[in-house]
Amino acid sequence: MEKRGEPIRVTRSSMPPFEEYVDMIRPLWDSHWLTNMGDLHQRLEAGLKEYLHAENLSLFTNGHLALEMTIQAFQLKGQVITTPFTFASTTHAIVRNGLTPVFCDIREEDYTLDPEKLEALITEETSAIVPVHVYGNLCRTAEIQEIADRHGLKVIYDAAHTFGVEVDGRSAASFGDASMFSFHATKVYNTIEGGAVAYRDAALAHEINGLKNFGILDEETVALVGGNGKMNEFQAAMGLCNLRHVDEEIGKRRLVYERYMERLSGVRGIRLCQPKPGVKMNYAYMPVVFDGFKWNRDEVFARLAEAGIYPRKYFYPCVNAYPCYADRYSPEDTPVAARISRQVLTLPMYADLALDVVDEICDIILG
Ligand SMILES: *Cc1c(COP(=O)(O)O)cnc(C)c1O
Repeated sequence: MEKRGEPIRVTRSSMPPFEEYVDMIRPLWDSHWLTNMGDLHQRLEAGLKEYLHAENLSLFTNGHLALEMTIQAFQLKGQVITTPFTFASTTHAIVRNGLTPVFCDIREEDYTLDPEKLEALITEETSAIVPVHVYGNLCRTAEIQEIADRHGLKVIYDAAHTFGVEVDGRSAASFGDASMFSFHATKVYNTIEGGAVAYRDAALAHEINGLKNFGILDEETVALVGGNGKMNEFQAAMGLCNLRHVDEEIGKRRLVYERYMERLSGVRGIRLCQPKPGVKMNYAYMPVVFDGFKWNRDEVFARLAEAGIYPRKYFYPCVNAYPCYADRYSPEDTPVAARISRQVLTLPMYADLALDVVDEICDIILG
């Protein structure tokens, strides 16, 4: 096998050609307007509204603050139902708003919130549901909405993984009351750090845009107890450049995905997420579940690491096993999530991952 110089990590950030970025930021040396909803910010907001088919959209300096401040904007109380099979951000955004998370288990098939287990968790105290479109797999949105409507609950999606995903032409941004997207460097589409929230009710713009700028409404009026969640012009410039290339990047990810599927489908003890009819995927992650395979997840991880290949154990451990939540929760409350978290590995997946490296990874896994 040919020797690779560089280690292979789970992801590699998409970047535009250097000259393109320089051209985009050059006007900032004339305007000296570096942040606070400048020209590039406005252009990116318009561009993303169009790309995501979002009627209302606000940019943020990162996805986490977009979620945290959106939850704040809805002025929720009591309990919020979510899943523990996600990144720390989802639960932290709930808790940092003074709300109590209640963990619902996930589906075997796509690791999203299991609507069949949802209703039993709803109490008098429940005010909202925060499901996660994990790995870019869309949740059972219709079932979740039906239950939410019946109980008068808000639905705020953690859509951090679903940039560009559509089902029957309908954007991932269109479900529930709001959807948070992350544009972190490791995501399908990045603004270095960054994020956005798309929301149904145009009137919410006042709260959301206020909260991300200290609640300042005008020079003499501070009306909300906000924070600082503003996206700056250098982030917006990266976003505008990357937006030009994102479809091409997703197209390249598709080839990597297809190669993995070709090599790993049908192998005993290996489970892969299956494509769903009508869904335009973004190939954000390549999760593989080892269940009865000749090696367990940790053994596969070690074999790859030995060859300088570093997949990630996303999402292990489950959030309800974190030390900061251990006094109130247990992973045993969500047995499917607990088991999948011990069996799953997300393999390297990015636009420029060479197909012969994908083959090398599969050769090592299959032994
Ligand atoms: C990345 C991510 C976030 C947070 O986004 P940042 O932009 O890094 O703040 C939230 N939820 C999930 C599921 C994520 O993967």
